[in-house]
Amino acid sequence: MIQIKNAAQILAMKKAGRITGEALLTAREHVKAGVSTKYLDDVIRSYIERAGAKPSFLGYGGFPGSACISINDEVIHGIPSAKRILEEGDIVKIDVGAFIDGFHGDSARTFAVGRVSPEAEQLIKVTEESFRRALEQFKAGNRIGDIGAAVEGYVTKFGYSAVRKYVGHGVGHDLHESPDVPNFGTPGRGPRICQGMVLAIEPMINIGTPNVKELNDGWTVLTADGSLSAHYENTVALTPDGILNLTEVG
Ligand code: MG
Ligand code: MG
Repeated sequence: MIQIKNAAQILAMKKAGRITGEALLTAREHVKAGVSTKYLDDVIRSYIERAGAKPSFLGYGGFPGSACISINDEVIHGIPSAKRILEEGDIVKIDVGAFIDGFHGDSARTFAVGRVSPEAEQLIKVTEESFRRALEQFKAGNRIGDIGAAVEGYVTKFGYSAVRKYVGHGVGHDLHESPDVPNFGTPGRGPRICQGMVLAIEPMINIGTPNVKELNDGWTVLTADGSLSAHYENTVALTPDGILNLTEVG
């Protein structure tokens, strides 16, 4: 069932969203060649805990990190490790959640490590823009399929594909709530969008095919064809005054 939030609940979710967004901004300051993904995870965990919140992902389904940190052809759910060192030219996806006052925030960014290839740069840009296109569809009376169709319609113009196996979702007391918010879809199909919905809209975009595979670590998802993948996510609420982007800060 879709959990519709009232004004007080959305107000409470602003705090979780802000801490989530700030943790990502803080992590970005530390993204550079030579740094391990475990170090970035430590930075994120201490930021969230100092803010009085809890990392949403830590222990979620047994996940060992506070953030999912995924490099290059890794799509999502990369496990932070002292052995994974960022290299010049990598793209790194950092996905963070913070839980406070009974609510979660959920947000992800893709960062360039130093100078990256023009292909990587374009992928990052197009993925962010596909989020913006999706957000334009987040309005009362539209359907969830309008969001996915906006993402897919935009990225396929560049020859890219949207991952199908993993999707966005509702956010609230639980990190993952109804409805599913796919990055593909048919306009006019799916659950009707209404005020009080809070969603994690999160395009996961591959340069190659949409197919993914799982590493035998039980978590890391990577592109089946080895192509680069980018991720861009915010937790957004639909209020009577319009869209509130809870995790976009700075
Ligand atoms: Mg996320
Ligand atoms: Mg999410």
